[in-house]
Amino acid sequence: MITSKYFTENEFRMASPQCSLQNMSQEFMDKLGRTREIAKIPFIINSAYRTEAHEKKMGRSGNSAHTEGCAADIKALDGRSKYLIVDAAIKAGFNRIGINANFIHLDNSKKLEPCVVFTY
Ligand SMILES: [Zn+2]
Repeated sequence: MITSKYFTENEFRMASPQCSLQNMSQEFMDKLGRTREIAKIPFIINSAYRTEAHEKKMGRSGNSAHTEGCAADIKALDGRSKYLIVDAAIKAGFNRIGINANFIHLDNSKKLEPCVVFTY
């Protein structure tokens, strides 16, 4: 049973595509919770767990950290939110961060290259 202090099952049902807190890794959820705690702003989950089939359907490689259940895209429309999320994520120990115009991607994949910030 995957649990989270800050995120409810409903927030994963509202994500795109719809998923479940139970698809996520506990280690990732603990780190995301710690990030939320440090940032002190609401975290809206745009996307979290995605199947390999979904990724391929979207024309992607299918080896995203989202398919491992250890990634989330947190809505961040303005520069201040982006800063607070990135700052908190680094303090919480995330070392894989993606910066999009509309969200911050955080993951702790053990298969993908550590210590990277990427853009879209
Ligand atoms: Zn992402």
